[in-house]
Amino acid sequence: MNAPTPVHRGRFAPSPTGPLHFGSLVAAAGSFLEARKRGGEWHLRIEDVDAPRCSQAAADEILRTLEACGFAWDGEVVWQSRRGDAYAAALERLKAEGRVFACTCTRRELADSAIAPDGATIYPGTCRQGLAAGRPERAWRLRVGDAHVSFDDAIQGHIDSDLAGEAGDFILLRADGLFAYQLAVVVDDAESAITHVVRGADLLASTARQIFLQQCLGLPTPGYAHLPVAVNTEGEKLSKQTRATPVDGVRPGPALFAALEFLGQRPPAELSCAVPAELWAWAMRHWRLDRVSRGPACPAVTGGIIAP
Ligand code: GLU
Ligand code: ZN
Repeated sequence: MNAPTPVHRGRFAPSPTGPLHFGSLVAAAGSFLEARKRGGEWHLRIEDVDAPRCSQAAADEILRTLEACGFAWDGEVVWQSRRGDAYAAALERLKAEGRVFACTCTRRELADSAIAPDGATIYPGTCRQGLAAGRPERAWRLRVGDAHVSFDDAIQGHIDSDLAGEAGDFILLRADGLFAYQLAVVVDDAESAITHVVRGADLLASTARQIFLQQCLGLPTPGYAHLPVAVNTEGEKLSKQTRATPVDGVRPGPALFAALEFLGQRPPAELSCAVPAELWAWAMRHWRLDRVSRGPACPAVTGGIIAP
């Protein structure tokens, strides 16, 4: 007899641009606990599609740190750098259906374009009706037309998005020949049959684009929950750029404790120096997504987790 399909399949999808820092630990812990609490699976995908920004060493370090933190994932790790054929096939389908167009615009030509709330350039539509003669195609973009996308985020609430105003025709294949994050994520989440995406709210602005792309490709839309973004005392998102301290892979307990606190879970103070197994045992019993705030928030400075 076949095992019943699990109702919940979550994932964590770090980009190996540097070591695992507190913000990614929060995303890992939130997605892991939500999946396990519901008796679901939790998958791991290394998002190394943007090869120039990623490294194998960073990926190895992230995997080691996740193991040291006591995360256990289901199945094989998925590597985006090995999935180019799947992305190419998706793009070909969209080409065949006339949903994408080639774009010759250079960065400089787009420099005067409007800026989306997430800082991205909104494409002005220059090449939508066809390429100017003699100009080489550089990128492929998805036509968004007048599409509106709305969804209910389990943490951030109801989101309405006007794609033309917030993103414009967005890139699926970049001028440098690399597939764009938006395409890779959508193809991979579907391939892994992910039912619930739990990730940082810095990606909230991408979600409408991803849902639209799922619709274009006839793929199911998972549920979404966007966790608060961890910021430093200056209000900047913790990242490699803001020199967030990497999670200590030798003694990860305090960082995990801080991540649970950050996620609104109120672990008892006596666990502040506990090892991961004890923290997970507690968290598995007590995890509640409805305790997670919308953020952004500055995590408590515990054990030197956050860079000064
Ligand atoms: N790779 C992305 C990041 O590290 C996350 C993508 C996702 O969770 O959809 O920010
Ligand atoms: Zn163009």
